[in-house]
Amino acid sequence: MRKHIVAGNWKMNNGLIQTETLISELKQQTKTSDAEVMIAPSFTNLWHAFQSTRQDPIEVVAQNMHFADNGAYTGEVSAGMLKSIGIKTVILGHSERRAYFNETDESLARKVDQALEHEMRVIFCFGEELFNRKAGNHEDIVERQIKNALFHLDADAFKHIVLAYEPVWAIGTGETATPDQAQDMHAFIRQTLEAKYGKDVANDMTILYGGSVKPANAKEIFSKPDVDGGLIGGASLKAEDFFAIVNAF
Ligand code: PEP
Repeated sequence: MRKHIVAGNWKMNNGLIQTETLISELKQQTKTSDAEVMIAPSFTNLWHAFQSTRQDPIEVVAQNMHFADNGAYTGEVSAGMLKSIGIKTVILGHSERRAYFNETDESLARKVDQALEHEMRVIFCFGEELFNRKAGNHEDIVERQIKNALFHLDADAFKHIVLAYEPVWAIGTGETATPDQAQDMHAFIRQTLEAKYGKDVANDMTILYGGSVKPANAKEIFSKPDVDGGLIGGASLKAEDFFAIVNAF
């Protein structure tokens, strides 16, 4: 079902003490919107974060996972391991994973399958680079990323998927897509889904925008009809800023 979600991607920030501090600051914030709130700490802090937020309306989610069940994959973490500590949602395909860890649409398709097999919810990220946007083929790039990683799934699987459109040129750069650019792409994503899976899947899909969302611009971005929330990097590391974004609906 389509809903409002604001998810904080902490990336490789915050050790145990900072995680405890930020979570206790988040708990002091008041939520006035209907948005679901998620935070994605590093693997080492997932268990602690999960335990600390058990009674709170904050879901702790993972930033990544491997496509195999288990085995000789030194340094990796499986869906089963995440499930075993209570994690039910995983971010896949973040542009930093694509750029620095060679994740491809094909390997991401395997990760998506693995997550769904373990009955996890997936926040699937994708987005074009600046040169694509300048060349005017940003829609083609996004369409290809979605098709390659997700279009082998049946319509039912999309109940467990949230999409996150994150133009690479807007991530951590202070550069934000204009609300109209975000809206245009989100509408295009919905059309792409509709063409393959029909109106119900397209209308029910939750599509987040990510890329330098801040308290100052969240309201305008979230006011767009096809923007259902945000994936927030930098601004999720400050409780007040993060909740100002959560409450921007
Ligand atoms: C992100 O990493 O998903 C992100 C959107 O980062 P930032 O908000 O810092 O641009």
